[in-house]
Amino acid sequence: MRVDFFRHDLGPQNAEAVAKVLGTPFLTTGSVCKAVEADLATHFGRKHALTVNSWTNGAAATLMAMDIGPGHEVIVPAMTFIATSNVVELVGAKPVFVDVEPETLLMTADAVKAALTPKTRAVIPVHLYGQMVDIGAIRALLAKCGRSDVKIIEDCAHCFEGRFDGQRPGTNSDAAIFSFYATKNVTCGEGGAIITDDSDLFAKIQQTRMHGMSAGAADRFKTGQYRHWDMARMGMKANLPDLLACLLPPQIATIDQRLTVREKLAQRYEVALAQTPIKFQRILPKRLHARHLFVIHVPLAVRDDVLTFMGTKEIGCTVNYRLVPTLTFYTTKYGYKPEQFPVSADWGAGTLSLPFYPSMPEDAQSYVIDTLLKDVIPMIEKAAK
Ligand SMILES: *Cc1c(COP(=O)(O)O)cnc(C)c1O
Repeated sequence: MRVDFFRHDLGPQNAEAVAKVLGTPFLTTGSVCKAVEADLATHFGRKHALTVNSWTNGAAATLMAMDIGPGHEVIVPAMTFIATSNVVELVGAKPVFVDVEPETLLMTADAVKAALTPKTRAVIPVHLYGQMVDIGAIRALLAKCGRSDVKIIEDCAHCFEGRFDGQRPGTNSDAAIFSFYATKNVTCGEGGAIITDDSDLFAKIQQTRMHGMSAGAADRFKTGQYRHWDMARMGMKANLPDLLACLLPPQIATIDQRLTVREKLAQRYEVALAQTPIKFQRILPKRLHARHLFVIHVPLAVRDDVLTFMGTKEIGCTVNYRLVPTLTFYTTKYGYKPEQFPVSADWGAGTLSLPFYPSMPEDAQSYVIDTLLKDVIPMIEKAAK
């Protein structure tokens, strides 16, 4: 049986929304994005939301709007996708990697405290796999250190649905950024969004996401009368087209229902694999997990053999993630070593992600579980001897 790693839920049912945009004279950022932004602001209970064409470009535009660049440092976790640190490089600042907490694999306030320097301008905590970092604790730590100037930008690429103590992302940070990339829980192929309560930051990101222009195309032509625009700050091209944004509203409306399905699938994996040497991310109390990925950890000596073996069984698996600071670019530029990040190094060398998506058939999941129990557990046991 062939089991895909991921399948999206979009289909012919979305064609009408696309056709509607095609029928208007305006394909890029316009009324559809505006409506999605209003939706998102309401959904998350924040003052402002801005759509962008990726998490990566949204985060870079946010850092630019915060005037973060050369000479500055931004604290990021060592266990994440490369985009989290790449955006810091993109604006010319230095990513300062910190190790994560062993059970949850999340960034902690203590780690932030140890990495703070006078050059620190921001922290980008990552809600890894869908479990939220304690942003309130990082906020409190920064205040205690007299560093309330340090911005907190939440990487919510895995965490549209998650909550911490009932609160959604964006509650305690300066900005929270989502990804609508092809495999994310809410997707339009490529895209993202930024939410914030900071009206000044919102106004600046409106410019940095659009070349630094003082007015976007939709606004420039609004009155039917051409108006000149200015460029007061440097910007980039990070706006989302209506053509893609039109795929989002039905997904946002049903996201919490689909989480129930994800939760059920995740629990089925967890129960089936509970009495085995396979390890999982621990989920702490007060957290509602967004269940973006289902990730396991096996002994480092067998991880790559397990990946190869799953491939021969036509089971799509991937790795989220290997240790970022020791990838060639970062280790060459900054000399980072794996010993500096023992938890992330170990997790990165033993982790693999199993097929996981709401429409996953029960027999497909059974096949993955049976393969793990029948063939992979013996591989692990043999390696332990
Ligand atoms: C997917 C992902 C990103 C990047 O999202 P894009 O929309 O592809 O730019 C950033 N951070 C994490 C943790 C991700 O998984």
